[in-house]
Formats: sequence, C-alpha cells, structure tokens
Amino acid sequence: MTSAAPNPALTGRARLAGVMGWPVGHSLSPRLHGYWLAEHGIDGAYVPLPVPPDQFERALKALPALGFRGANVTLPHKEKALALADSATPEARRIGAANTLVIDGQGRIEARNADAFGFIESLREGAPAWRAKERPAVVIGAGGASRAILVALADAGVPEIRLINRTAARAETIAADLGGPVKVMGWADRGRALAEAGLLVNATTQGMAGHPPLDLALDRLPPDAVVHDIVYVPLETPLLAAARRRGNPVVEGLGMLLHQARLGFAAWFGVEPKVTAALRAYVLAQP
Ligand code: NAP
Repeated sequence: MTSAAPNPALTGRARLAGVMGWPVGHSLSPRLHGYWLAEHGIDGAYVPLPVPPDQFERALKALPALGFRGANVTLPHKEKALALADSATPEARRIGAANTLVIDGQGRIEARNADAFGFIESLREGAPAWRAKERPAVVIGAGGASRAILVALADAGVPEIRLINRTAARAETIAADLGGPVKVMGWADRGRALAEAGLLVNATTQGMAGHPPLDLALDRLPPDAVVHDIVYVPLETPLLAAARRRGNPVVEGLGMLLHQARLGFAAWFGVEPKVTAALRAYVLAQP
C-alpha cells in the first residue's frame, strides 16, 4: 500500500480514532494510521483533532458520545489527559502523562502511554546488538519524553541511567519520582558521563530543525555505544551524523513514533500493525 488514495473500506459504521493536539497540523499520525487502515482494509478513520487547551476537557469528554474508540494525545495535553481519564495504566502514572486513550464499550476512557514501548522497540530494532543489562545509559534531557525513556530503560534492566539536563532541578525531580537506577549528573559533566556507556539518548529539543545542535563532545563515548536521537525532524540530526562519523551504531527518532503507534492502532482497530520500510517511506513522503 503506497498510494495516497483514501481508504476504500470506509462506511457509515467506521471505527473512529484521532489525534488531539494544539497545534496538530504537523502531526504524522493521521498519515501513519491511514496507511495501516488501508493496508488492512479496515472500515475505520483516524483524524486530526485540533483542540486548544481551554477546550481540551470538553473535547476529551465528548469522545465517547461521538463514538470514538480512542485517540492519541500530543502536546500540550498529555498531562491533562492522564488527570481527566476515568482510569490509567500503572505505566502512564509512572511516566506522568498519557499519549493514548482507549474507550471501552461503556464509554470509559483509559489513559495509556505508549512512548516507553515505542522507544524500546525502536532501539531493539535499530540496534539489535544492544544489551540493556551490561552497561550504563546516558539520557540527556528531562522533559516529557525523557520520563518515558527512563521508565523504558529501567524496566529493561539498565543498571545505571545517568540523567543530565541543562536545568538540574528538573532532572532531580524525575530522579526522585522514579528512583531505581536513575542518577543525576551535572550539565558540565555531560562529556565525562559518556565513559563506559553502552547507550546515549538525546531527549532534548536540541538538533531539531530550527534549534542548535546538542552541545556535546563525544570523545569519551565508547566506539560501540549506541546513539539514539529521539528528534526526528531532521532524521539525521547533527548528533547522529557525528556519531555515525566515529562509527557508533545510531538509531533515528522516527522509529519511536512509528512503534508507539502500534499499541493504539491494535486497541482501536483490532489488528497488530507492522512497522515496515514501506510505511517509513510513506510517512516521510508527507505532502
Ligand atoms: P520538553 O518537555 O519541552 O523538554 C525539552 C528538553 O530539551 C528539556 O530537557 C530542556 O531542558 C531541553 N532543552 C531545551 N533547550 C535546550 C538548550 N538550549 N540546551 C540544552 N537543553 C535544552 O520536550 P519533550 O516533549 O520531552 O520532547 C523533546 C524532543 O523529543 C522533541 O524534539 C520532540 O519532538 C522529541 N520527541 C520525539 C518522540 C518520538 O516519538 N521520536 C516522542 C516525544 C518527543 P531544560 O529543562 O533545561 O529546559
């Protein structure tokens, strides 16, 4: 399925899902889910739902009445979605945010977070030789995405996670919330923190189109350490380009987005979708 034709299976009984965000026009999710709907011939639709912050509660509570099976939630609504849902998975509570809502037959909304799953699946696909339990991981950034990554790495059994953020207080708060293997290191020590690491993750906005590159010297990073940048615009960030030049295995951020979408799609439309090269190409060919 590579054409951009509308889903030919769509009828008046279509299953409905969508993505709530503000803004939402840049979201790749309608194209991504639309690909899978057409690929599997499902009578369903996944639509963009631009919802400003002051309308979010009304919009979320209207989803069951409108017959939606659920929705993805993106910025700036992820924390509010967790608070407003009727129930939440333990993982979403640990992360402190929801990006996937699933509505049951009684109209009850469950908040889930698929970012941890998406991150670890993408890492395992992109760097199959990576072993969680062997060496420390370094995570730069302590925003919303970082929390999901820390939960994913802790659950995978990483023995030590060195968390570094420009604003140290944010990292300290997350480390206090999550505990376990998460250890905060100072911004000035970020180069030194790379010694003996098996994985480096950029979870900041640095390296995104319109932002400066992440200011990080890779000299101390072991040559076989995996570098995973969760920024996906551009796909090849300056960090990934620098890591690739010195021979480190690299994982692009798009995989996390594609893999996290599998959980919502399966819950709403009843099919386990696959992340394929054809899907990647289709999503990237966004008109
Ligand atoms: P966020 O909550 O706004 O956090 C932003 C992070 O970037 C903070 O740690 C912030 O540090 C840091 N930062 C911002 N400007 C910086 C600078 N000049 N120098 C150093 N650090 C700086 O953002 P988020 O939602 O976690 O998203 C972070 C990135 O991940 C975005 O690029 C987003 O697109 C991407 N993302 C990708 C996926 C995926 O599926 N691939 C999923 C979620 C997010 P301070 O605390 O010091 O401000």
